[in-house]
Amino acid sequence: FWEVSYNIAHVMHYIPVSIASAAAVRHIDELLDEPTRGADRPGASELPRISRDISFERVSFTYEGSERPVLDQFSLKLDVGKSIAIVGPSGSGKSTLLNLILRLYVPDEGRVTIDGHDIRKVTRESLRSGMAVVFQENMLFNMSIRENIRLGKEDATDKEVEQAARRAEIHKFIMSLPHKYDTVIGERGDTLSGGQRQRIAIARAIVRNPSLLLLDEATSALDQTTEAAINRTLLKVAKGRTMIFSTHRLTSVVDMDEIIVISEGQAVERGSHAELLAKNGLYRKLWDDQSHKSAASAVDDDDDDDE
Ligand code: ADP
Ligand code: MG
Repeated sequence: FWEVSYNIAHVMHYIPVSIASAAAVRHIDELLDEPTRGADRPGASELPRISRDISFERVSFTYEGSERPVLDQFSLKLDVGKSIAIVGPSGSGKSTLLNLILRLYVPDEGRVTIDGHDIRKVTRESLRSGMAVVFQENMLFNMSIRENIRLGKEDATDKEVEQAARRAEIHKFIMSLPHKYDTVIGERGDTLSGGQRQRIAIARAIVRNPSLLLLDEATSALDQTTEAAINRTLLKVAKGRTMIFSTHRLTSVVDMDEIIVISEGQAVERGSHAELLAKNGLYRKLWDDQSHKSAASAVDDDDDDDE
C-alpha cells in the first residue's frame, strides 16, 4: 500500500501540468465529448441564437448497459428567457435532461429541439457556443484566476474576464489578493472556499455570454448561507437569458420563474413555488420532507465554506 501511494505521489509531482493542460483542452471543447454519439452529421447546419423554446418531444433514453429507461416518451417544453428549476429525487433524471440538451447523449427515440431545430442536425459547435454549464464540482487549474475564467472563452479580453467576475460577484475578492487576477490557484483550488470556487466557475460560464446557462447541482454542495448568496447572484446573471438549474435541494428554487418536478421519467408538476405548494402534490411532499430535515440538521450542518 505505502509503496503504491508513494509511487502515485511521486508521479503526481511531475504530472499535473500535463494533466491540467489536457483537461483544459477538454474543457475548452466544453465537456467529455464522445466523438461518435455526439458527432456532427454530414451537412449539419448552424443553430442560430436560441430565441423561443427548448423541447423534449417524446424522448426515450436508456443508458448503455442499463436495463431501465431514464426517460420514457418524455415530453417537456421550456420557454426561453426564464429561470427554470428542474427538481426531483436523486436519480430521477435531472442530469440526464441537461446532458441531452448538451448533446452529451442523444435520445434513443424522439428528439430534443431548440426553436424547432432538432439539435442532432446542427453543429455541436453552434449548439454549445450559446450554452455554458456549471457543475457541482468544476475543474480549476493550476494557473492564474484570469486564465481559469478565460477557459470559458479562449479569446476573452482582460476586460471581459473582469466583467464576468463582477457579475459573478467575485471581482472584489480577486482584487483583494496580492496578485489579483494573476493569482495562481493551487492545483486543487484549495486556497479558495467552495463558494469562491463556484463563483469562479460561474464567471467562466458568464464570460461566454451564453443565452442558455445550465447548472447541474451547482450550489448543492455549499452551506446554506453561501448557497443562498450564490443563488441570488445566479438570478441576476440569468436576467435576459435562459437558466436551467437542476437541484435536489428545494430551498434553492423558491425564487425561480418556473419549477419542473421530475419523477420516474416524467415531468409530473410545473409552476411557481407558491403554485406547487398549493397543489399539495409531490413538490409539497418533497418540500415538507426537506424543511423537516433541514430544521433537524441545521445544528450539525458542518459545511465549512465561509463566504
Ligand atoms: P439525477 O440527476 O436526477 O440524480 P441522473 O440523470 O443522474 O439523475 O440519473 C438518472 C438515472 O440514470 C439514475 O438511475 C442513474 O443511476 C442512471 N444513470 C445516470 N448516469 C448513468 C450512466 N452514465 N450510466 C448508467 N446509468 C446512469
Ligand atoms: Mg444529477
